Amino acid sequence: MAKKEYQKPTGTQDIYGKKQRYFEKIEKVSWEVSQEYNFERIQTPIIEEKELFERSVGDQTDIVQKEMYVFETKGGDKLALRPEGTASIVRSYIENDFYKKPQPVKFFYFGPFFRYERPQKGRYRQFHQFGLEVLGKNSPALDSQLIQVFYQIFKRLDLEVVAKVNSLGDDNCRPDYIKDLKKALKKDKDDLCEHCQKRYNDNPLRILDCKNETCKEIVQNAPQMVDNLCKSCKKKFQSVLEYLDEMDIPYELDPFLVRGLDYYTNTVFEFFAEDGELALGGGGRYDKLVELMGGRETPALGGAVGVERVAEFMEENEIELDDRSKKVFLAQLGSSAKKKAFEIFEDFREAGIPVYESMGRDSLKAQMSRADKLGAKYTLILGKQECIKDQIIIREMKTGKQETVPLENIVEEIKKRI
Ligand code: AMP
Repeated sequence: MAKKEYQKPTGTQDIYGKKQRYFEKIEKVSWEVSQEYNFERIQTPIIEEKELFERSVGDQTDIVQKEMYVFETKGGDKLALRPEGTASIVRSYIENDFYKKPQPVKFFYFGPFFRYERPQKGRYRQFHQFGLEVLGKNSPALDSQLIQVFYQIFKRLDLEVVAKVNSLGDDNCRPDYIKDLKKALKKDKDDLCEHCQKRYNDNPLRILDCKNETCKEIVQNAPQMVDNLCKSCKKKFQSVLEYLDEMDIPYELDPFLVRGLDYYTNTVFEFFAEDGELALGGGGRYDKLVELMGGRETPALGGAVGVERVAEFMEENEIELDDRSKKVFLAQLGSSAKKKAFEIFEDFREAGIPVYESMGRDSLKAQMSRADKLGAKYTLILGKQECIKDQIIIREMKTGKQETVPLENIVEEIKKRI
């Protein structure tokens, strides 16, 4: 086949057909459950100042160093396509003085994100996330409740997932832990992968979740953050786990879970399909971020789920979609029938029974074959004769059985049958 002149950019997708319907379902269910937990929907721009992400996500992270789409506008502004959602929500919280609202403020978002990554299964350059952020109140119960909301969304989508959780401590205990970690890894430093040798200085925590087999083996014996938490972080983490137990949420402790962004403190979590390798979503607490971004001290937490990955997981599990296929096809022949068909189409639409219409000049045979391909159960046939007599034919597609009924009763007749 000849190469088409234009193709979509690498790592992007056209979303249509079944995939589009999975997307719609994920958006509907995630928003529905979030509303039940009193989240408010927010939309922030897809473009933001580049520096917003450098400062919040961290300039040593893969996202900022390698994956961000940045560009300069004609006016000289340095902007980035958003690689994640939290930074924008924090910016918005500060910019709009949301601290004046009753706390915590709870936001839901859904939309596209952009990362220049190597495309592979479940990894795209334009992907979608829905996310939740809770700002302005500090309590371990909120950490567990956030995990609970995500869990309930997966549940309503009929997906079985496990949450992995860990604590990254805070400014009080993490620096000492990092020192211990580096000390323990020092003797094996040369055996770490190239990437982790660099991380050893820039971002040593990330060595813990490196997927390289040698690195994985080396960190097995390294000290773990959970064993080195200060008293207050330990207490917080214990409370989070107790709440999770109480809510019957399936979780596993994962001392190697660190997440790829710099801003996390204390609780971090990720959701996986059972035996799944790729995370479906994740998040955590980021108590220092609002202050770092120029706001007042504000405890906060959040998380996001990848819509493509969830849609693929649903498809693999053959999760059913609502059957929205239309059951009725309206065929017409001749110009007077066509005019009438417009009216009948509207009558059906107003009665809440959408029908496939055929307003062209195709032969009856061509129209019937289209009805068949679309999977219609009934075809309504309106020809010249029927128009004169104010009648219409109902054809049951499977059996070929036809019946002529008065036109004025047609909506009622079809209602009875579907
Ligand atoms: P993160 O906060 O980076 O862990 O992203 C949260 C979730 O978004 C991940 O668990 C994935 O499900 C999804 N995600 C992140 N990056 C991509 C990508 N490049 N393509 C598809 N999904 C992604």
